[in-house]
Amino acid sequence: MKVRDLKLHPTRVGRRHQLIIKIETDEGVSGWGESGLIGRELAVMGALRHYRELIIGKNPFNIGAIWQDLYRSQYFEGGRVLTAAISAIDVALHDLKGKALGVPVYQLLGGKHRDWVPLFATTHAPMGPKLLEDAALLMGEGWNIIRTTMHSPHELNQAGESVYEPWESIGPTAHWLNKLRDASGSLAVIGIDYHHRLSVAEAASFCQKLGRDTLDFLEEPIRDETPEAYEALRRMTHVPFAIGEEFSSKWQFLPYIERGITNYARVDVCNVGGLTEAMKVAGWAEAHYIDLMPHNPLGPICTAATAHLAAAVPNFASLEIRQSPTEQSGFYDERLFPVQHERVGPRLIISDRPGLGVEFDEHAGAHEEFEPDLGLERTRYMRRRDGSLTNW
Ligand SMILES: [Mg+2]
Repeated sequence: MKVRDLKLHPTRVGRRHQLIIKIETDEGVSGWGESGLIGRELAVMGALRHYRELIIGKNPFNIGAIWQDLYRSQYFEGGRVLTAAISAIDVALHDLKGKALGVPVYQLLGGKHRDWVPLFATTHAPMGPKLLEDAALLMGEGWNIIRTTMHSPHELNQAGESVYEPWESIGPTAHWLNKLRDASGSLAVIGIDYHHRLSVAEAASFCQKLGRDTLDFLEEPIRDETPEAYEALRRMTHVPFAIGEEFSSKWQFLPYIERGITNYARVDVCNVGGLTEAMKVAGWAEAHYIDLMPHNPLGPICTAATAHLAAAVPNFASLEIRQSPTEQSGFYDERLFPVQHERVGPRLIISDRPGLGVEFDEHAGAHEEFEPDLGLERTRYMRRRDGSLTNW
C-alpha cells in the first residue's frame, strides 16, 4: 500500500474553522486527520503542502518512521506550525491503518483500558449567580467535573478591541469560585482556565484569595515559554496546575513533567504531534504519576483521536469536550460528521469501528467558506486600558 494523495478540507464548523485532511492510498483506503492550530490555518496548510510531496509513495503503515521524516527531514525541525501539520497526518495515518486492518485505533496503541472516557464540562457563565446555576445544572445531569473561565467583562475600547485588566478579574473570580465550592460541595471537581492571562505575581495573588479547598485544578495561569517562571509560581501556591495545551512536542512537556511543575498534562493530540507523540508524553507522565487531561476544543475528529488515546493509557483524568448542558458549541455538526463517537451525558463511548470511528462528509464540507480573517476569535486583540497588548 502506498500513499497516493493528501487533501486539505479547511471547513467552517459553527463559529470556528476545522482544518481537516484526508490521506488517500492506491488501495482505496483513506484516513481523516485534523490540525489544531486555530487561527494559523494558512501556515499549517503551507506546511501540509510541503509534507504532501514527502509522504506520497510512502507505506502509510510506517507511521513512526513517517513522523521522524516529517519532523527531522529538514534543518529547521519542529515548532508549532510543523507539528500541527504532523499531527493531522499522524492522526489520519492511524485512521487509515485501523481501517485497513479492520481494528479500532486503540488496538494500534496497545488495546483498551476503559470502555468510556470521562468528560469535563465548561461553563462560560460570568462570575455571578449564573455560575452557581450552571454548576447545579451540570451536577444534576452527572457532570461533576466543571471548568469555569475567568471573569472578563465585555468591555471594548474605541478601536473595538476587548479590554482586559488582570486585577479587575482576579478579585471577582476568586470570590465567585469560593461561593461555587460552598454551593457545590466536595464531590464537585472544580477547575478554572485562566488562559495564560496573568503574571506570576497576579497568579499568586489570585491563588491567595481562594479557600484552601476551592480549586481542584488551575489551568494555564501564566504563559508557558519559561518553565522557571512556573516553578516560581509553583512555590507560591498549593493549587494543582493543568498545563500543556500549547505544547508542540514531548520535549516541551519534559521540564513540566520532570520538575513537578504540572499535575495534569493538557496534551493536545492535534498539536503535539499526533497520537505517536501523545503516547510518548503519556508514558513520560505515567512515570511521574501524572494523569492526562487532554485539550480538545475542536470537533469530532480530534475528539475521536483523543478518545482512542484515552482508551489506551492507564493514566487518564478527564477529556475536554465542547458539548455539554452548558455549552452547545456547534462543533459536532452531524451534517458534516455523519459518523461520530457516541456521548452519553459525561461519558464518551469509545468506538469499536475500524479506524477512528468518525467520518467527514467532504461534499457537505464548505471548502469555499474558508476565510482566514473572518470569524476567528484568536485574531481578536485584547488590550489593557493604557493601550498595551495583553494575552488573549
Ligand atoms: Mg485552556
